[in-house]
Amino acid sequence: MTVFDEMIGQQRVVESLREAARGVGMTHAWLFTGPPGSGRSVAAKAFAAALQCAAAEPGCGVCAGCHTVLAGTHADVEFVRPQGLSVGVKEARELVGRAALSPSGRGWQVMVIEDADRLTEGAANVLLKAIEEPAARTVWLLCVPSAEDLVVTIRSRCRVVSLRTPAADDVVAMLQTRDGVDETTAEFAARASAGHVGRARRLATDKAARDRRAAVLRIPSKLSDVGACLDAADALLKSVNAEVAELTTELDEAETASLKEAFGEGGSATGLGRGQSGAAITRGASRAASSALKELEGRQKSRATRTTRDALDRALTDLAGFYRDVLVLQLNAGVDIANTDRATEMQALAENSSPESTLRRLDAILECRVLLDANANPLLTLESLMLRLRDG
Ligand SMILES: [Zn+2]
Repeated sequence: MTVFDEMIGQQRVVESLREAARGVGMTHAWLFTGPPGSGRSVAAKAFAAALQCAAAEPGCGVCAGCHTVLAGTHADVEFVRPQGLSVGVKEARELVGRAALSPSGRGWQVMVIEDADRLTEGAANVLLKAIEEPAARTVWLLCVPSAEDLVVTIRSRCRVVSLRTPAADDVVAMLQTRDGVDETTAEFAARASAGHVGRARRLATDKAARDRRAAVLRIPSKLSDVGACLDAADALLKSVNAEVAELTTELDEAETASLKEAFGEGGSATGLGRGQSGAAITRGASRAASSALKELEGRQKSRATRTTRDALDRALTDLAGFYRDVLVLQLNAGVDIANTDRATEMQALAENSSPESTLRRLDAILECRVLLDANANPLLTLESLMLRLRDG
């Protein structure tokens, strides 16, 4: 095995990353671009491992360097995963500060920023300065959907690595060999996820995710009257909120508990003494604790909002997939449909409506996604979407 094995259907990119890890065309700033699910962060991680690899052929996957990078524990590789809606100036400054440190080993100090499109303008400027005058052994790996998502001043200083949507066959093969998924499930998941590797894996291995997708694909057949539309919006939002709670509640509680423990809640601070100075120290510590707690709550709220948007976006992507298939049937496009499990409903809708109305429905979904991303009220936005999907 090599560290590049997880990069599905990206042979050309793998070759150029291997070369760079050998020193050919190596540079201080890289931009990994590609559609959602094409594996931008997977590619960046593999490259980071190859840069720390001790083998003659970089990226062996078995040496300590490769192993620790993949496990996320290498001292000279930092992964930045923005969990909130944006990355601000303060965070960027801290990052640049750490990037300037010399690596502890003989290799590179590697900074991987996933979702670099979430850098605020101010944060991007801080980063730009660091990229313009990089420390001798520092490498920045930035991941964004497309190069246009970053200001041109940063973009122009990066070597761009463009990933493409992998072919369904490549995804099927990966699910079978790496995840041990049976052929039927692998083919279903690869088709239903339209080349989104992470989504395919989730659908293939997680029944709850398959059930949620099936519920979304039943929506178009349910929109019989206004009441049904409002019910569908409500049910969809409830399902998304339940999914988000499942993803975040446990994490939130663990973080809060460990922060409280760090501040010695539960009595150790009172052990400082009963004199006046002791009381002052205790008061100071408790102020610090409550402000740290407030900051944590802010970060958790921002993460929950982000997670909700992502989950809604996944559901709307599935819904758009349904209407895209309807359009394929209406246009006799000669393209395979993705959601074969709903073929009967799609065929019926294709016969009883026009391609124009299908296009209007697809537009409505797209507009809904844009509105939700701009912080519109989710329930109201979904209700108006369902009404538009009914009217066509
Ligand atoms: Zn190695």
